[in-house]
Amino acid sequence: MKLDVNVLRYLSKDDFRVLTAVEMGMRNHEIVPAELIERIASLRHGGTYKVLKNLLKHKLLHHDSSKYDGFRLTYLGYDFLAIKTLVNRGVFSSVGRQIGVGKESDIFEVANEDGTIMAMKLHRLGRTSFRAVKSKRDYLKHRSSFSWLYLSRLAALKEFAFMKALQEHGFPVPNAVDCNRHCVIMSLVQGYPFVQVKQLQNPETVFEKIIGIVVRFAEHGLIHCDFNEFNIMIDDDENITIIDFPQMVSVSHRNAEMYFDRDVECIIKFFSKRFNLSFEANADDSDSDAESDAVKPRFSSIKKASGFLDKELYASGFSRKEQDDIEKFTEKIHGSDDEEIEDDEETEDDEDHDSSKLNASDIQNFDALCSLTKDEDDEQSGNIGEVVEDQQNSEEKHEDGSDKVEDDEQDVNPELEQRLAKQRRRAIQVARAGRKTNASRNSYKDKGGKSSHNSKIQKSNW
Ligand code: ADP
Ligand code: MG
Repeated sequence: MKLDVNVLRYLSKDDFRVLTAVEMGMRNHEIVPAELIERIASLRHGGTYKVLKNLLKHKLLHHDSSKYDGFRLTYLGYDFLAIKTLVNRGVFSSVGRQIGVGKESDIFEVANEDGTIMAMKLHRLGRTSFRAVKSKRDYLKHRSSFSWLYLSRLAALKEFAFMKALQEHGFPVPNAVDCNRHCVIMSLVQGYPFVQVKQLQNPETVFEKIIGIVVRFAEHGLIHCDFNEFNIMIDDDENITIIDFPQMVSVSHRNAEMYFDRDVECIIKFFSKRFNLSFEANADDSDSDAESDAVKPRFSSIKKASGFLDKELYASGFSRKEQDDIEKFTEKIHGSDDEEIEDDEETEDDEDHDSSKLNASDIQNFDALCSLTKDEDDEQSGNIGEVVEDQQNSEEKHEDGSDKVEDDEQDVNPELEQRLAKQRRRAIQVARAGRKTNASRNSYKDKGGKSSHNSKIQKSNW
């Protein structure tokens, strides 16, 4: 995805106000009705439609009129909201070149006012596997419509929390600077991805260092789960830095041993292929067990401090519930290659999402949320997941017969309620009439091009 940050300079306060209104609407709408956006943004002189057109032109929004006239954020739109918030917080002031393209992330250089260069990782969960996500309805049942926002935000939060905790325990990881929405800011690692290294001065020492880190992770109760030459950085002095943490699991995970062995195997395989290191245990050696343990550590022989890092992780705002959610996702996507992926054609299930509503206090809070000043932007941190969770809880409670939902509904502005009911009826009518277009089936897939514009420097100050 191309991140043309120059666009940021031309976006007005109203543009961000409307973009924020769409983000807010996406808490309960897959496609946010234009009328609702107008209502939330409540620009003077009814200027919302003009602004929507501008945002659409810059590909920050996607327009979908297959069921009703509505919009959703693109990844680029979500990027801009995160970038704007972090810039307002003073975390950085310019975006430079793209330095990495992961399967589900884009990494850019950013710089602050002092000229310190850092790395910005924008998570893009679902970019390569959204069809698979959508098919997992057991897990994403009530949230398929916002799953890419929700999951990418979770991935960023998890990565930030783990990086911070690992750093505090002396692991060689980047310094976790800040996090907003799906975006993590961290220190820039000086060095190269290990996969690019053809020769080492001390391959044995480097191997021991790397395997030592896997063991130390386990001793601290953690398994990296994607420990390979792409997620290890090395500098000219052969110092190691480990990156990429959204898929880490606890040693108490039911597949922990398998993940641990897989991490170890990856490293052994890479060293034997690239640096011709031999890992055969010597059969004559009476001490061969201990020796092969040193080369190929066994999960069962490691003294593991389960839950050691939990406190720190939760302190960073990463809850057990969020941990479970992201784990289910990464397992389904990365741990089950041979699972059949269903077509992601929408079902009646999806239409139901429009039946949930924003409540009046959301709208009253909007002015505060939208002003994007330094003090207020913590509130404005795009915690879509929390709201989704609230919504899910209230749905669950409703099914249980609790009166929580009734309480909420008393707050709803009757005029808004009426408008939404009308939109809902219209949406259901259209859906029943069977108007399913390709556009609606593919409505999640960003139209943004490939994200491999590595060489293009996009420097912008604002
Ligand atoms: P993914 O989760 O998509 O695999 P990674 O975190 O592994 O993303 O990052 C992808 C690439 O970006 C890395 O292989 C590396 O080249 C580069 N990169 C990531 N983080 C940093 C960093 N802090 N400093 C320098 N380069 C980085
Ligand atoms: Mg990676």
